Amino acid sequence: MKSMGFGARFSGGVQWNQGATETPGPGTRFSGNVMLPLETVQIERFAVGGSLWLVTAVAWVAATIWVEHDARNVFGRSLPWKTAFVALGAAVFLATYQLGAVALPFAMTGFMLAVVAYVLIRESQAAPGERLIPVAALGDSVQWAIRASGLDSLVQRLRGAGDLPGGVAVSGPAVVLLKKDGSVYGGEKTRGADQELSRAIMAAQGILGDAVTKRATDLHFEPKTGHDIQVRYRIDGMMQTMHTLPADVGRAIISAVKVVGDMDIAEKRRPQDGTFAVLAEGRKFDVRAASGPTNFGEKIALRLLDAGGGIVKGGLTGLGMRDSLVQSLRGIIHRAHGMLIVCGPTGSGKTTTVYGALSEIDVLTRNIVTIEDPIEYRLDNISQTAVNNAADLTFAKILRSTLRQDPDVILVGEVRDKETAEIAMQAALTGHFVFTTLHANDTATTVTRLLDIGIDATLIQSAVTAVLAQRLVRLLCPVCKEAYRPPESLLRRLGLPPDKVPVLYKEVGCPECHGSGFRGRTGIYELMVFDTEIRNLLVGRPSIEMLRNAARKNGMRTLLRSALVKACEGVTSISEAERVTQ
Ligand SMILES: [Zn+2]
Repeated sequence: MKSMGFGARFSGGVQWNQGATETPGPGTRFSGNVMLPLETVQIERFAVGGSLWLVTAVAWVAATIWVEHDARNVFGRSLPWKTAFVALGAAVFLATYQLGAVALPFAMTGFMLAVVAYVLIRESQAAPGERLIPVAALGDSVQWAIRASGLDSLVQRLRGAGDLPGGVAVSGPAVVLLKKDGSVYGGEKTRGADQELSRAIMAAQGILGDAVTKRATDLHFEPKTGHDIQVRYRIDGMMQTMHTLPADVGRAIISAVKVVGDMDIAEKRRPQDGTFAVLAEGRKFDVRAASGPTNFGEKIALRLLDAGGGIVKGGLTGLGMRDSLVQSLRGIIHRAHGMLIVCGPTGSGKTTTVYGALSEIDVLTRNIVTIEDPIEYRLDNISQTAVNNAADLTFAKILRSTLRQDPDVILVGEVRDKETAEIAMQAALTGHFVFTTLHANDTATTVTRLLDIGIDATLIQSAVTAVLAQRLVRLLCPVCKEAYRPPESLLRRLGLPPDKVPVLYKEVGCPECHGSGFRGRTGIYELMVFDTEIRNLLVGRPSIEMLRNAARKNGMRTLLRSALVKACEGVTSISEAERVTQ
């Protein structure tokens, strides 16, 4: 429509000519029907200017149509871009109408700048498959210039209107999705009817990036009513609602995650599992997705595992253990045979501790095998096998065949039944060191649990070297934690000497810790070493109390005690210490 307008205006020529200022003298004016020689020159200029005008106008219209189409593809919406181009066109048209030919060079320059700016911006935002120019070719300096010029933030603002409710950016910090086979999910199908999917994937990337930034380990998308879907993060072990999405948006994101995780998007009634990986903030996270039905529709839970296994590589240090405990454990795990059972509830950091211990063992001189359900971290030079109950590959079955491969050290991911426990203990008696975990609250309970499932006391007596119980306590946010003088009654109740604890700290909450008052976690431990006294107790079917008292008498620091020590050191609060050990 602009070309018509401009063209028509131009062919009339009158305004243009009158407005032009390059008239060299009085003789150049139109004078009735007679045309003077100078006017011939003017006509030629007129023709040249007119053609340029036409070309510019047509190019402008073409560019506007392309931008409208392209912006919808790349940004998921065309509106701000289309409006900007139409408005710019209208402004130039008005300017030329008023000023005449002088405005033409400005109009052309403006047009080119606008097109170049749009292309640069869309290139910086487009999915890899959508790019016109390979990003590398854009060059760091150009990308830097985009950021420096503030165009970037303008883009963010323009796109802000398209972001999701709850402050979820449709693509946040750079988040790359990797499929199960390790290839980059490039949003292969981002055209036509799949634009919705492309946008939902961008939203999922935005949420995953946000979750990584906030150190979340789990992400749940759950329909709470018919019309919205809650997004909850688990940060430092605590679930927090982070976003509430309209149901259609949330459902689109759930479907998008299922596509990336290679799950059946049509199947919404049966539970499904999927895996993919996320690259964000220079780290790689393996993601395990589990979907399932609820009253209000499908939900999906994502578990983010740091594939770099940062903390695991540090061995037993960096897990919050005091030096004496690290030394005791090293003495245990380097034995030629025996068994270390690590216990605690789900999410208490058992796996991290076991991997940390394994990584202290020399993989070159000792043959290490693991049987896990599922494999959480990949370890170098260690043979790892995953349990697959569907294929009848149970812990017990794999363990039997593993023993034939003559390993030195075996990790049995978890002891859940009598059969597995017995084979593992037999292995511990026959020249293997066995690591395993058990779902129990503390060391004494673990021992009675083993007796309860029917394992012979003499087998436990001779096979088990030690039991380690653990929890993760949240660390007070160093920015906002608040010191206070603890009342004597509190200290007496906790069994702390009043004269030795002048100050304790409590949680407050600030933007740094997202209002929780905590930032990060550390482990607290209780190590029961099987000495003669504990072993002797076992045959007489001991109570939990008897076991605990015997161990304490021999120097075991209980979980509660370990947590209180952390509180006295000012790294956690009394309420947190009591919460995790209750
Ligand atoms: Zn804080």
